[in-house]
Amino acid sequence: MFLSGYATVISLLAGEQLAGRLRIAPAVVSLVAEGLGDRDHRRSRSAFRAPVVNTYGCNESLALAYGCAFGWLHVHSDWLILEPVDADHRPTSPGQESFTVLLTSLCRWAQPILRYDLGDRVLLRPDACPCGDPLPSTKVRGRVADLLSFPHRGGGTVRIVPMAFEALLESIPDIDLFQIVQTSPTTLRVRIRSTTGADRERLWTAVRQELAALLDAHGADQVSVERAHEPPEQSPGGKYRVVMPHS
Ligand SMILES: [Zn+2]
Repeated sequence: MFLSGYATVISLLAGEQLAGRLRIAPAVVSLVAEGLGDRDHRRSRSAFRAPVVNTYGCNESLALAYGCAFGWLHVHSDWLILEPVDADHRPTSPGQESFTVLLTSLCRWAQPILRYDLGDRVLLRPDACPCGDPLPSTKVRGRVADLLSFPHRGGGTVRIVPMAFEALLESIPDIDLFQIVQTSPTTLRVRIRSTTGADRERLWTAVRQELAALLDAHGADQVSVERAHEPPEQSPGGKYRVVMPHS
């Protein structure tokens, strides 16, 4: 069995496997998108007793980098440019963690991607990687912070991946754009831009019911869902973050 998924999801599955609630034996575990930190990487390796391969990708350019045996991600720099930058999009030095990273694709002709803000924090290795690969080596801290945590009705904390909210709201018709902001540990503020001509009251009722059902299914039933009157907002880099956890 080949297990491939977002690192945050693999990490949650590793927790289930270690707790004995999941029993699978993958031959290889492949992490897509944001990658895992060293500690979670080791934990996933021992939970599944399988090699865990880091890859770094995104919807805009599937493969950005691949992991080597020394734990670094080597950028496919013959196909794309990754620029680690600070919050004002000025380059950050190798060895220093960036605020975000900009992607330029060198291989897409029909839809060019130029300095697209991926929203990931990356660190570029200042020296050569001991594995001998000459391509630039990076570590990605990724979007792990986007996991939402809520008090569980039985005590403790439940964590929900952003994809659960995204999939749910994408399944409701008449939503053009949405954003969920966790304004307190037990409050979700929902910003929605509806399509033209949509019945906004009926849409909001559907959104509130679906979100309440999702939270209830995860045991987080003390969370209030509030309707925002402002539209979804862009980050300074121009990206819409779909889910913004309480910090
Ligand atoms: Zn390497």
